[in-house]
Amino acid sequence: MRKGICQLCDKEKDLAESHIIPKFVYRWMKQTGGKYFRTALNPNQRLQDGIKNYLLCFDCEQKFSKYEKWFADNIFFPHLKNSSKFLEYDENLGNFIISVLWRRLLLNKINGQEYFEKVFNDWKSYLNNEDVLQNDKIHLFFLGDIWGENTQPNEFVHRYFTRATDTNIAEIDNDIIVFAKFSRFLVFAELNINKQNFRGTNVYFGKSKFPFAQYIDNGKISLYFLDRAEKIYRLALSRISEEEQVKILTEINKNPENFWDSDAGKSVSSDINSEIRPYKVDERIKYVCDICLDSMREPEGHLLRTYEIVISEKYWKYIFSNNNFGIDKEGLKKRLDYFIEVSSSPTPWIICDKCISMFDIKDIEKNKAYMNKWFSTKGKFRPNKCGDFRNYLDNDEIKKIPEMIAGIN
Ligand SMILES: [Zn+2]
Ligand SMILES: [Zn+2]
Repeated sequence: MRKGICQLCDKEKDLAESHIIPKFVYRWMKQTGGKYFRTALNPNQRLQDGIKNYLLCFDCEQKFSKYEKWFADNIFFPHLKNSSKFLEYDENLGNFIISVLWRRLLLNKINGQEYFEKVFNDWKSYLNNEDVLQNDKIHLFFLGDIWGENTQPNEFVHRYFTRATDTNIAEIDNDIIVFAKFSRFLVFAELNINKQNFRGTNVYFGKSKFPFAQYIDNGKISLYFLDRAEKIYRLALSRISEEEQVKILTEINKNPENFWDSDAGKSVSSDINSEIRPYKVDERIKYVCDICLDSMREPEGHLLRTYEIVISEKYWKYIFSNNNFGIDKEGLKKRLDYFIEVSSSPTPWIICDKCISMFDIKDIEKNKAYMNKWFSTKGKFRPNKCGDFRNYLDNDEIKKIPEMIAGIN
């Protein structure tokens, strides 16, 4: 403990040591094989985790610990246990992410680097419970074994994406993010974004759930992290002495089976056994079918309007049987709720080639052409007759809908 001005609450107090990445992450690394690496190659080493200074007071650290504990219990360990993506969360998740990323900006500030003062101050007053959050575009990307088993662009990909800790402010393709990567998680915030890069990764400040599909729709961002993996481990390798390398091997050889069975061992083994093939940025837009959630790449798909969706009996049949919405009171209520949600969709629907047969479309080439226009405008195009179906169906057609919804068995 030492006295000083706390960077968060600005009060003069006893200051505690602070890190960007929470302690439980390092504990997890150690327990899952990190003990075999004790040197520069050490995944336990706090790569880029430079705030070891006395910058925050005990009370502010305690506040952050609460968010960290919530994250450990509700997201970190559940996801590592079964790769679950449907995790539910509340505002604690956003608070945790902001507290981590704010400390990364703080590190830049004390190092005299660009620290995005406006965002920094906004987050600071939010964390002090003073102000409404302005810069709330934050994301969580769940990392799994995202590369195929057989090929990868460099020999460090698995190690980086499954285990490394890394934080930075990155400028990629004219967009800027601040990120923290640890274990199988990537959290980040948009500091200056011009493109639609991310889908299904947004974190909201309230009760919510992650969607089924998540992806980063900008190959240059993937490329940045792949390069980063290589740079970080190459740097570590260049620093390690022969003597230290021998030490690591000796440690592993004491009980090789234990090592190769550990999470660290498995990720190294995936790296070793993969063929190295360069990563090509695929510029085509990637997206999912709004009905079956299968992913597609340009130019597959059709763009439909909400009124074309709601009048399809086959569609409702598919939804009701998939969700087990029966015709008892409860089932009917669920049908109605679902209908209200679907029928109020103001944006067009993307339907894959398999699902299109559910719809009775008069001129399918037109819907295909809409899709192409949607690509060329990067998702901004809206065909006419989008939005509320009541405006585009005649009275007779509208009258038939409730009967259809309740009648499907
Ligand atoms: Zn404080
Ligand atoms: Zn589909």
